[in-house]
Amino acid sequence: MSDALKTDVRALVVGGGAVGTSIAYHLARAGWGEVMLLERDELTSGSTWHAAGLLPLFNMSYATTHIHKYSVDFYKTLEAETGLNAGFHVVGNLRMAQTRARMDEYMLYSTTAETCGVHHEFLTPAEIAARWPLVRTEDLIGALFHPQDGYINPADVTMAMAKGARQRGVLIARKWQVDGYAWAGDHWQVAVTRMEEKGGNLVASDERTVIRAEHVVTATGNHAQRTARLLGLKIPAIPVEHQYIVTEPDPALVAWRESHPPHPVLRDADAHWYVREERGGWILGPYEQGAPARFAYGVPESFRADLFPLDLERIEEEYMSFIHRIPSAETVGLKDDFNGPICYTPDGNPLVGPAPGLRNMWLAEGFSFGITAAGGTGYYLAQMMVEGEAGIDMASLDPRRYGSWMTTEYAARKNEECYSHVFILHHPDEEREACRPLRTAPAYDRQKARGAQFGQVDGWERPIYYGPPDAPADFDHQARSFRRGGWWPHAVTEARAIREGVGLIDATAFAKHRISGPGATAFLDWYTTNRLPKVGRINLTYALTDAGTVRSEYTIVRMGDSDYTLVSAGAWNAYDEDVLYAAIGEREAEFGRINTEDVTTKWGVFAIAGPKSRDVLRAVIRDADPATALTNARFPWLSARRIELGMCPVTAIRVAYTGELGWELHHPIEMQNYLFDLLEKAGAPQGMTLVGARAQNWLRQEKSYRAFGNELGRDATPLEADLARFVDLSKDFRGKAAMEKTGIRSLCVTVLIDGPADADPWGKEALYAADGVTRVGRLTSGGYSVVFGRQIGLGYVRPDLATPGTRLKVRMLRELWDAEVTVDSPHDPQNARLRADG
Ligand SMILES: Cc1cc2nc3c(=O)[nH]c(=O)nc-3n(C[C@H](O)[C@H](O)[C@H](O)COP(=O)(O)OP(=O)(O)OC[C@H]3O[C@@H](n4cnc5c(N)ncnc54)[C@H](O)[C@@H]3O)c2cc1C
Repeated sequence: MSDALKTDVRALVVGGGAVGTSIAYHLARAGWGEVMLLERDELTSGSTWHAAGLLPLFNMSYATTHIHKYSVDFYKTLEAETGLNAGFHVVGNLRMAQTRARMDEYMLYSTTAETCGVHHEFLTPAEIAARWPLVRTEDLIGALFHPQDGYINPADVTMAMAKGARQRGVLIARKWQVDGYAWAGDHWQVAVTRMEEKGGNLVASDERTVIRAEHVVTATGNHAQRTARLLGLKIPAIPVEHQYIVTEPDPALVAWRESHPPHPVLRDADAHWYVREERGGWILGPYEQGAPARFAYGVPESFRADLFPLDLERIEEEYMSFIHRIPSAETVGLKDDFNGPICYTPDGNPLVGPAPGLRNMWLAEGFSFGITAAGGTGYYLAQMMVEGEAGIDMASLDPRRYGSWMTTEYAARKNEECYSHVFILHHPDEEREACRPLRTAPAYDRQKARGAQFGQVDGWERPIYYGPPDAPADFDHQARSFRRGGWWPHAVTEARAIREGVGLIDATAFAKHRISGPGATAFLDWYTTNRLPKVGRINLTYALTDAGTVRSEYTIVRMGDSDYTLVSAGAWNAYDEDVLYAAIGEREAEFGRINTEDVTTKWGVFAIAGPKSRDVLRAVIRDADPATALTNARFPWLSARRIELGMCPVTAIRVAYTGELGWELHHPIEMQNYLFDLLEKAGAPQGMTLVGARAQNWLRQEKSYRAFGNELGRDATPLEADLARFVDLSKDFRGKAAMEKTGIRSLCVTVLIDGPADADPWGKEALYAADGVTRVGRLTSGGYSVVFGRQIGLGYVRPDLATPGTRLKVRMLRELWDAEVTVDSPHDPQNARLRADG
């Protein structure tokens, strides 16, 4: 039997798993009427039915922690609302640590969790043994315990959300498959087909219709590739096999349970598995190596609520470590097994938010912890759709974070890697290895030969620091730590080189968009907060959301009346472009024709900086009067000039993200090696050092330069980021009224920290008042200052604590360390070094 349909709705949610059901529920709860959910089969018949139902709060990301926390709190309320018991067993969650590095990871997590109000405790091996004697503890060094989470029945929680949604007016129609989407100017025309059962198969009937929907949300789980095809998009959500096994009852466990409460979910992260009780036995869920991606080109018609055969050999190692940890399980037989598709994305975060290039089309795809994330995803996505923005910055989940260079093979291989990484140590300086190198600028081989260790930004290989030239291929991997990794002394040397001499940074990954045409000036004036630069000048400016928070940060370079280049963070190229082009599309009729060109891959960028940078450039500049070409008179700070370095034409911009005298050298990418060799030769007499992104990240904090994705994002206005000097309040610009209405909820500050001897903050730490008790904010960046010889960080605090000199505390490694709010730009506050003449 299929359910009746509405043919005209405000929002159509496609997919009746945990995620789609939660979204429909939350849209209705946020006040939208006319919400309909379509499911091609039965509710929960995708991945949801066979999930183990664990709800792990632990997550190193601020946004995801908020999402998971919301779910855990929300699921506890469902029974009161719907009368349905979602089977939530609040047994707690015990994460065991076998190594000091694992405890360091938990300590870093702990301080982030504090910023989100997530309760947790640390336990010693003796405390674990006393509470749960079936667990072997002699090779543990401790554990992190979440008393408030546990596991839930995935089908029951979905049914409870479905009932809650229906009670709020949502129509849920099963056995209707979406087969096509067409945008009709102000709504979507969605073609749907009634599905019917035939001999155990689900087949399309002849009954078809078209639904008019103002908004569409896709939450199609393992069917994301079909959804992508129907929408003409690339969506990197591809499932990987995931298995778990269920044992027969364990007599020791049964006996123990006669007089004790259930065990928490047990996680032996260093052994790559989780375990929970199930009817007197155990469920063992391993995250093993070698689990293959499936359905890279779509789910076969014959696959319904099916499973793959168990591959016991692949999980042998995890099984052995399970019986080591819980010795009583050794003689217990296997009762059942599950091997199902679990969706992943290349970075492990789901894709939640607007679909690239489309209007009123929202994606909620690629969930690997979809039961845990469903509640919070529904809540925050509904906020985005109903109010325009979510209450937290969802950028790390934005579907527009993958560029057009991303392919199916890349997504499949990265997703396999992501699965196998679930239980690895999540170092904040982690750089994942699969599918590399892929996007390389010409100088890659030269940099590598000089010891560069690379990180990835939007797929580009970018030097993060220069290790020893003869370093092994996995040098960086070995060098990682939650404290100061093996790369730390190299970054110190590089940072000092820029402060004291001269360094060269590869910034080719910057996103670069050229905007021109008769409407360009008026458009950019409306789109960005700062006054537009004069011809030959540059400025720093912000594009805002309609909620008045920061959407993008740009350096605008103006080379002609209507000739602008917008330079922004490399990691956000696809996102910046999507938002920019959508805004142009909306306003072009009003402002006049606007031409756009993504020149990111046409132009390489080297940033040369340091007191001796002018001397290096002067040696290679070709000019009628090379002696004056780089002086303040001819090339002042914050200006741009077309110059020639040897035979290479360069658009040079006098600006340096490191805060020293310096220039960005935008050059034709095909001449990059020529320019590299030229600069290297000219730099040798000045001791020029090749510098990576890690040192640059420290240096920019000494200048209080905010970074997009850290200090800048959709949860703070530029005024809250304390960037009023880049906001021209005398003009009208997008988001201005909302920005002014928001006021100042918290303020961005720079802090210097007297921290531990062997660790720096990562920008995830909680900030406390001087009393060490009252939480007053959080760090969003962190590192080491070579100028001050102390730890440094940027973050947000209560406005009354933002005055320079205010004493604060920072939580690192479970302890509180003294910190002090500094003046903005503690290094060279007058910018004298940037303006230096010569
Ligand atoms: C073995 C295993 C154990 C797991 N354990 C856990 C766990 O402990 N905790 C946890 O949080 N997560 C777990 N997961 C992951 C979890 O199952 C998924 O993340 C979650 O179910 C995803 O929910 P969803 O709603 O996104 O997708 P799904 O549940 O797959 O739902 C998508 C729905 O969309 C429907 N659909 C697709 N295309 C169309 C269309 N064109 N028209 C109409 N309907 C359509 C499908 O029929 C399907 O019902 C596990 C997964 C596996 C495989």
